[in-house]
Amino acid sequence: MTKYVFVTGGVLSSVGKGIVTASIGKLLQARGYSVTAVKIDPYLNVDAGTMNPYMHGEVFVTDDGGETDLDLGHYERFLHINLSKYNNITTGQIYLKVIERERKGEYLGRCVQIIPHITDEIKSRIRFVAKRENVDVVVVEIGGTVGDIEGLPFLEAIRQMRIEEGYCNTLFVHVALVPILEVTGEQKTKPVQHSVQELRRIGIQPDIIVARCRVMLEDEAKRKIALYGNVPIGSVFTSYTVDTIYEVPLILEKQGLGKHVIERLNLEDKEPDLADLEWFVEKIRHSKKRIIIGMVGKYTKLKDSYISINEALVHAGAHLGVKPVLKWVEATNIEEGKVKVEDALSGVNGVIVLPGFGRRGSEGKITAIKYARENNIPLLGICFGMQLMVIEYARNVVGLRNANSTELNPKTPHPVVDLMEEQTKIKQLGGTMRLGAYPIDLVKGTIAHSLYGKDRIYERHRHRYEVNPKYIHKIFAYGLKISGLSYDGRVEFIELSRKEHVFYIGTQAHPEFRSRPLSPSPPYLGFLKATLNSI
Ligand code: GLN
Repeated sequence: MTKYVFVTGGVLSSVGKGIVTASIGKLLQARGYSVTAVKIDPYLNVDAGTMNPYMHGEVFVTDDGGETDLDLGHYERFLHINLSKYNNITTGQIYLKVIERERKGEYLGRCVQIIPHITDEIKSRIRFVAKRENVDVVVVEIGGTVGDIEGLPFLEAIRQMRIEEGYCNTLFVHVALVPILEVTGEQKTKPVQHSVQELRRIGIQPDIIVARCRVMLEDEAKRKIALYGNVPIGSVFTSYTVDTIYEVPLILEKQGLGKHVIERLNLEDKEPDLADLEWFVEKIRHSKKRIIIGMVGKYTKLKDSYISINEALVHAGAHLGVKPVLKWVEATNIEEGKVKVEDALSGVNGVIVLPGFGRRGSEGKITAIKYARENNIPLLGICFGMQLMVIEYARNVVGLRNANSTELNPKTPHPVVDLMEEQTKIKQLGGTMRLGAYPIDLVKGTIAHSLYGKDRIYERHRHRYEVNPKYIHKIFAYGLKISGLSYDGRVEFIELSRKEHVFYIGTQAHPEFRSRPLSPSPPYLGFLKATLNSI
């Protein structure tokens, strides 16, 4: 029988609830239990795909093509598993389903209500994941903050699940912020007290409270949280600030959280094996040599916009014993002449041209690509980044003046990047890109092939445009090579040979989504290695 751990959040968002959720999963997994994780997002969007990464953070893509919340990325990286689109439940999905059913008359004349119809649909989706993945424990994170109107039906659903699944099969964990007053240095527990009260008001008594605080909670603060939160003092833990997020499971384990969860769920305790994380955290700690990476993009103010790329660099860096330091380069500033490209990229050891959409900033990115190509600076182009590498090459080496992508200029004389054939018939925006993992055949003898060491790989995708098949023979006759193709002939990897450039690789895929602490993504590893060699 599957057990459920429900994680709620209090006081503020962005207190690391996703990391605590992933950490609890990890502590169970370390004891030999099979685990999966679900993220619930109480917004009305059906998925994260239609949301602006500048406001909401990265859209994480699953193997099966789900456009999901970035927390799924944390779960995958901590738990070393591949999740599915079913692991991200949104209010939009729930209402869509219930209303569709109502239109079909499936409710047999009854009045359709939030309780029980919406809550039933929520519960059935959570249980569906448990059944589909057949795991020992499902860790379910309820997004947002307790007290939000949007979150109420989800909290009601998990309250009902406690009754239906039983006390020993369900666990409520509440993660909330404990601020420290600057003047007195005092740890203030009142916000936590209030958020727990809010939870209890709707019938949920947390079993465990995890305080998010800059430092370890003092005994006095712990005592207060226990007293007012109505839990034993041994059920209060601290998620304090650490150098790397991968340390969080280790500090929680040290405080006894793993054992506590196990006992409460009536599972047999086993010696946890966290050697992989311990090794990885040690590696990060000893990676002192700084490598400066110019991150050329458009949403550079919100670092979460490219979180999987940041993490892929952390993974690759730890393996090489280097510390990637990110220098965010706003492409629009180059484009508008506010900064010169040589100043924007001064001192960088390598450049990543980030994924993206739309015209704004694209010429700035192309300028940065030209600069990196001509000055032999290691360059990795991801998705849109690769498309812009092709455009730059077509313009400046092949001599196709004003070459462009039809996404950026529909009237370009040379549409070297164009909408994919099957996309021309699509009218709806949500969930209609080329999404998820597709096989890529790597060309023997290329750098891409040597990085992966395989003929066929699988990487995830999220795009509507591609290198225009009609231009392939024109562009790839001047040195730039195709090093990876899909089975239906799409350009998936491009590169310049080592003789021409120290490292110049672009991919239509998003290899960062499959990067894990212990198995870093090959293109990111290769890229960082090249930056090291070129210092
Ligand atoms: N805008 C480009 C496309 O749709 C690239 C998308 C991306 O970088 N994820 O093809």
